[in-house]
Amino acid sequence: MTDVFADLVGQDEAVVTLRRAAASAAALLRAAAPVAAGGAGRTGGDDALDALAEETDGPAPAGPEGVDPGAGMTHAWIFTGPPGSGRSVAARAFAAALQCVHGTGCGRCPGCHTTLAGTHADVRLVVPEGLSIGVGEMRALVLRAASTPSGGRWQVVVIEDADRLTEAAGNALLKAIEEPPPRTVFLLCAPSTHPDDISVTIRSRCRVVPLRQPPAGAVAEVLVLRDGIAPDVAEWAAAAAQGHVGRARRLARDPEARQRRDAVLAVPRRLTGVGAAFDAASALIEAAEAEAAASVAEMDETEKTALQTALGAGGTGRGAAGAMRGAAGQLKDLEKRQKSRATRAQRDALDRALVDLAGFYRDALTMALRAPVAPVHTDTAALAGAGAQKWDAEGALRRLEAVLECRAAIEANVKPRIAVEAMMLALWRG
Ligand SMILES: [Zn+2]
Repeated sequence: MTDVFADLVGQDEAVVTLRRAAASAAALLRAAAPVAAGGAGRTGGDDALDALAEETDGPAPAGPEGVDPGAGMTHAWIFTGPPGSGRSVAARAFAAALQCVHGTGCGRCPGCHTTLAGTHADVRLVVPEGLSIGVGEMRALVLRAASTPSGGRWQVVVIEDADRLTEAAGNALLKAIEEPPPRTVFLLCAPSTHPDDISVTIRSRCRVVPLRQPPAGAVAEVLVLRDGIAPDVAEWAAAAAQGHVGRARRLARDPEARQRRDAVLAVPRRLTGVGAAFDAASALIEAAEAEAAASVAEMDETEKTALQTALGAGGTGRGAAGAMRGAAGQLKDLEKRQKSRATRAQRDALDRALVDLAGFYRDALTMALRAPVAPVHTDTAALAGAGAQKWDAEGALRRLEAVLECRAAIEANVKPRIAVEAMMLALWRG
């Protein structure tokens, strides 16, 4: 129960696929290893590794685990699923299983440990901080990924939010996936395989591991068993987080996260007029900005201090003036990156708020329809019930659509304040 796949909540099918692939990968390495003690040298294992590169999507051939090298393993994978379903958890767990000295993802060996801790020399993790992953970053990554794995197993590249690749970065990645070095494995994470998220050509070179939204019961169980959270709190948080494991954990543990959620869910009853609608829009935007600022402030300061130290700020020796001129450019680059990260954090915070709000109107809709489903927000169920009576199903649906349109508009780069104001007015008018 404590192997590397233990954190993958409610994803039994995906875990079966990944375990089989890890076993096949281990078998490939055994086949490729020079035979010890007077053997006939290489056994053609590299051919098996090359064959890996030719394999594209398709059902894994049947057969006992690890017996047929190559079965179930391929060099490029896409993990898809809704936010919080565990795309990056799955990718990291699989990376650990590939680096596991037992080839299983035991969770105890140095290979597993260092991969999960983010310190394995042959595992590169790309977590976009800004709104996109640029071509420069991708080229550098692809170049390094082509080197021989120092640990003798695999070079693994994990790309979180692969849907944020710029077109040029996607092309650089595609080139590497099309002609992969024999020991390199690419693990991409994206919301879906829709062409908006991942290019068709990259998709065609990868095997897809679909993850589903874990059921609230499974999320609650993990919070109780792994995080020691009280069962009633765990159940409430799992339902409120709508299957998002990380969000459920935060709601259960962080009073500030709970307060922010309460403020968002107070919006529907505060919409009493045009002025109130604009006030509610401002409050929502400012809360997202404050949340984002708090989350990046410490990181920003640490990075800036580190860079200044590295650049020898305050130096007075010969060449110090020239060094400072170069330093100004580097500081500017850093500030640009930090600004991009702050924008992303704001969008994420605002999106979380909108998802909570959508949950409220969804509850009103299901109540108006008398649908036999549990509410998302048990603590505002009475308020949603009152809304259901007042608005009917059509009115609740229009409001739900207004929230979803706001999310879509922000995704399409409409200025968040304008999108949120339009939404609040639509919610007020009904
Ligand atoms: Zn291990």
